[in-house]
Amino acid sequence: MKLKIAVIPGDGIGPDIVAEGIKVLGEVAKKFNHTLDFSFYLAGGVAIDSVGEPLPESTLLGCADAQAVLLGSVGGPKWDDLKGDMRPEKALLGLRGGLKLFCNLRPAILYRQLSEACPLKDHIIEGGLDLMVVRELTGGIYFGDRGRNENGTRAYDTMAYSELEVERIARKAFELAMKRKKKLMSVDKANILESSRLWRSVVNRVATEYPLVTVSHMYVDNAAMQLVRNPKQFDVIVTTNMFGDILSDEASMITGSIGMLPSASLREDSFGMYEPIHGSAPDIAGQDKANPIATILSVAMMLRHSFNLEEEAAVIETAISKVLDDGYRTLDIMSSQMHPVGTKEMGSLIAQAI
Ligand code: NAD
Repeated sequence: MKLKIAVIPGDGIGPDIVAEGIKVLGEVAKKFNHTLDFSFYLAGGVAIDSVGEPLPESTLLGCADAQAVLLGSVGGPKWDDLKGDMRPEKALLGLRGGLKLFCNLRPAILYRQLSEACPLKDHIIEGGLDLMVVRELTGGIYFGDRGRNENGTRAYDTMAYSELEVERIARKAFELAMKRKKKLMSVDKANILESSRLWRSVVNRVATEYPLVTVSHMYVDNAAMQLVRNPKQFDVIVTTNMFGDILSDEASMITGSIGMLPSASLREDSFGMYEPIHGSAPDIAGQDKANPIATILSVAMMLRHSFNLEEEAAVIETAISKVLDDGYRTLDIMSSQMHPVGTKEMGSLIAQAI
């Protein structure tokens, strides 16, 4: 199979970690007889420096022409003083909006080998943790009407959802639940918000198409509490843009390791953009210190969600687990008795384990 992938290394550690993602992808392609067709594009600070804007049109067009996008990270102190529209981070919003990526998948996986990193008590996380937050990404309060009154003493933001917007994200979440434990938690604030009441009724309607999935509802304040009280009760969580923003950060923090967490942003067809959840870590850029695992796991998500190559994705995840079992650690996940390795060696070890 030919895999046409747009690659945006970006800024800071972006090029370091993307190189390792590509290394691992190359090994998978060899093993399973796939052909890789990469095109490289500029976005973020490097794009500002070279063409004067964070998201050149050629990048957007090139990404739209691929089957999937692999993104490193953007931003850094060099561009911090620029105004809103000229900031490197603007490229992220431009890519998500321009490519119509309405569905954000944020897995929170606590590897048993790294359980020391989790701030929760041992009995709460015994056996590891593996949950998925499905966040609506292009609607809700972040995209609603906003403004101020004439003298600026009153401000408002509007949370609005259409049936269509809820239906398409709900369907993504049910499809995912079908591939996992057939358990879906929809999070809203239906005791107060009208948009949440619509959300809940649409989720219940879509649920009739997936009789094998057990669906429950939870208010967002309770969900925030339950995530630290008993995170293992969740498997797939589906929620709105703002609630998902907050809950996915909370869920990722209970795994304690920012360098280990991937993400996917999808639309209705198989196209998706895949990136680690962390930023460009300018403090360690170009020093062979960054953990490439979040990016390599993003590559696994790409194979699973954009190319339907489940076996290939699982091979990468197993290889990562083996390298952790063998005791290799980058600095961010280092603990006593383990072997410290740099970015390149970690990538090579995972590639070899494939
Ligand atoms: P950050 O995630 O870049 O770094 C936070 C801390 O985590 C740093 O100490 C860093 O060294 C460490 N870290 C991050 N990723 C790591 C990895 N893979 N391996 C080892 N350690 C890692 O967050 P920040 O410092 O708040 O932001 C730095 C820049 O990144 C800013 O310009 C910010 O706007 C940008 N940013 C970009 C994205 C993105 O591209 N999606 C996301 C968040 C922040």
